[in-house]
Amino acid sequence: MRIFSGIQPTGSKHLGNYIGAIRQYVEGQDRGDPAIYCIVDLHAITVPWDPATLRQSVYDTTAILIAAGLDPERCILFRQSDVREHTELTWYLSALTAHGDLNRMTQFKEKSAKQRELVSAGLFFYPVLQAADVLAYKAQEVPVGEDQRQHVELMREIARRFNERFGPILVEPEHRIPEVGARIMDLQEPTNKMSTTGGSEAGTVLVLDDPDAVTKKIKSAVTDSGSEVKRGEGKDGIANLIQILAVARGTTEDEIEREFAGSGYGDFKGAVAQAVVEFLAPVRQRYEELRPDEAALEGALAAGAEKARAIASETLAEVRSVMGIGPS
Ligand code: ATP
Ligand code: MG
Repeated sequence: MRIFSGIQPTGSKHLGNYIGAIRQYVEGQDRGDPAIYCIVDLHAITVPWDPATLRQSVYDTTAILIAAGLDPERCILFRQSDVREHTELTWYLSALTAHGDLNRMTQFKEKSAKQRELVSAGLFFYPVLQAADVLAYKAQEVPVGEDQRQHVELMREIARRFNERFGPILVEPEHRIPEVGARIMDLQEPTNKMSTTGGSEAGTVLVLDDPDAVTKKIKSAVTDSGSEVKRGEGKDGIANLIQILAVARGTTEDEIEREFAGSGYGDFKGAVAQAVVEFLAPVRQRYEELRPDEAALEGALAAGAEKARAIASETLAEVRSVMGIGPS
């Protein structure tokens, strides 16, 4: 099973990324043949960014992934921009992508509405680059959170159209979305997903937040005027906390509802805060050890890029050949 997924080095990664994506990466690294994980710096420039911060954020994200359990010896971990095949394939695939399909993408609609100065063409084109990321490796499985379902569907469509026209070269990938924790919501706006770039600061628990910050954010999470620790209509905030606690404890949402039947919101939030602090503590601790050694992080990324390029360049040679690009 060839696995591929990407994560943006924008800002600091949050609990939603950890639960929805990073946990799955770690689980996939021994199942994957290989498992390929990419820090997608080229995706990060589709919204406003600071060049110096971006470079540092790549190391932050790399250190978080390794701290969470990725082992660069057992998976391929690399920086997207180090493998030029991604951008080249983006252009080839653009010829097979319907403009109307890109127009339907909800992520574009949501993110473009939030831009104050410039809605870049890059933001519109984001799903084509994402398709190139995955298709360059002929990956069969793409572990992602719920928000990426539509983009994976689009890359399948692009692969299908390519193969119909040029023969069976690309692989239509399947998404892998966790049953619980695929969509962690912002604690202050529980109808919006927790987000790296678009969420509220107080509603976003960062993987690297210290215990006090985590506790404060969870205890001030928006709930509802009721009193039952139960999922249901108008209870997005409580449902979100139930989901988070179930994942942090490794149990089910039903089990959490049973345990907290009759408890008040205060006690429940206290339990969620404690569980999340314990859940994130080992990652934060290992991050502190790893992050200062940028040369080691760069070394791991460079070695990963080498391995990634070997795979992607083969796909690109096939793609160019059947598309009539370059000499035969
Ligand atoms: P942005 O909101 O700027 O797109 P992001 O928070 O979605 O940033 P990404 O790097 O784009 O971060 O996403 C990395 C992975 O995390 C993706 O697989 C995505 O589906 C997953 N993910 C993102 N947010 C959540 C969330 N709130 N709950 C669960 N998974 C999530
Ligand atoms: Mg995202």
